[in-house]
Amino acid sequence: MSVMRFRSTRDAQLTAGFGEALTQGLAPDGGLYVPTEWPSLGTGSFGARESLAGVGAKLLAPFLAGDPLAPSLPQMTAEAFDFPAPVVALGRTGRLAVLELFHGPTAAFKDFGARFLAACLCRLRGPQSRPLTILVATSGDTGGAVAAAFHGRPGIEVAVLFPKGLVSPTQERQLTCWGGNVRSFSVRGTFDDCQRLVKQAFLDRRWQEERALSSANSINLGRLLPQAVYYAAASLAVFRCHGEPASFIVPSGNLGNAVACLWARRLGLPIAQVVLAHNANRAVPDFLETGDWRPRPSVATLASAMDVGDPSNMERLRSLHPQLSEIRAAVSACVVDDEAIRARIRAGYEEFGQAWCPHTATAAEAYARLPAERRDSGRWVLVSTAHPAKFREIVEPLIGREVAVPESLARLFARPTECTEIDADLASLRDALRDGRVLEGR
Ligand SMILES: *Cc1c(COP(=O)(O)O)cnc(C)c1O
Repeated sequence: MSVMRFRSTRDAQLTAGFGEALTQGLAPDGGLYVPTEWPSLGTGSFGARESLAGVGAKLLAPFLAGDPLAPSLPQMTAEAFDFPAPVVALGRTGRLAVLELFHGPTAAFKDFGARFLAACLCRLRGPQSRPLTILVATSGDTGGAVAAAFHGRPGIEVAVLFPKGLVSPTQERQLTCWGGNVRSFSVRGTFDDCQRLVKQAFLDRRWQEERALSSANSINLGRLLPQAVYYAAASLAVFRCHGEPASFIVPSGNLGNAVACLWARRLGLPIAQVVLAHNANRAVPDFLETGDWRPRPSVATLASAMDVGDPSNMERLRSLHPQLSEIRAAVSACVVDDEAIRARIRAGYEEFGQAWCPHTATAAEAYARLPAERRDSGRWVLVSTAHPAKFREIVEPLIGREVAVPESLARLFARPTECTEIDADLASLRDALRDGRVLEGR
């Protein structure tokens, strides 16, 4: 196998190996790392009864080729993918299913990427390494998943930034219940402000001098690449069962999950159509329609983990498909407003007895809006990104009953919480971090 390099979306000459790309998070020119080559991994590359971890080890092997982490890959995928991602049939037609990505420790799909990244970063640290500070901006679920994945790992400190008052109460508890090597900051601003702060810190020389910094947002290759694994496993399962490729509807915000799906397709996995379901943050659907890329401030919606006005991974999407015509051929997109999200949560319960989180409901609504012939000609898989219990304040009144809380979440809810409020500027973050415990790495 040849050695795999990753290049910046901005400057193709700026390349890094897998481990380097993970440690850096963002490329030095502010771009995002993407693979320079696409190995071919069709259905024949995978065994018939491969576990998720097994699919992961095969899929990721070419990307780690030549990297010091390569020998640990099977161990890392076993550690990260130790919970299932089942494809569950829905309704009577047999053509519709849900990919449940919420069986991890914090009950959202971000557990997959966060746990794989943690497995990698821990192994990249030598005994002499400086303490590593992971900065993570979160619109809700990322922070919890990253905190859970890194909590208690020696030599690693996590700072979670979330927009004050813009995450659900349940999510907020998951962001603030950790203590130890994890600190959370509620930022007086939006998710985009949080994301901007993280990017600024990375590009700031003083920060780089003061501490070893890494990011755990979906801008980090080490989060995004492993997300291709569940698309691979799900598409293989559908293909083996029905002899047809799967089409996915992906609830999308920062576009990490969607890009992971497109990467899996580029690798040769049996994936047909990809639909991006957005909430009222419509930059991507508008771009597909008009060809004008106009990022904008995010607006708050019920599907808050998708409240992104300027999705970072747009750069990766455009790097994969440079021409507008190619992007239009690769994906379609739709906008689902809060009213429609509510209606779809109700309908999902009436029709299928399913309680959907607001994000999953956007995918279900996007499916319902597909033209009938498109619906009937595909094997559609709704990507369920979070457990409804994380959004029970929204879901329960709509379906008129309580949502059972998975045990993993119940354990988190029982912990005490703590967080620091800061202004949305770099100096405030710097001060708060400095006089807090993170630097001491307690
Ligand atoms: C993060 C998140 C999304 C959006 O995923 P992106 O990769 O940012 O597009 C959707 N649903 C849930 C529950 C999330 O946590």
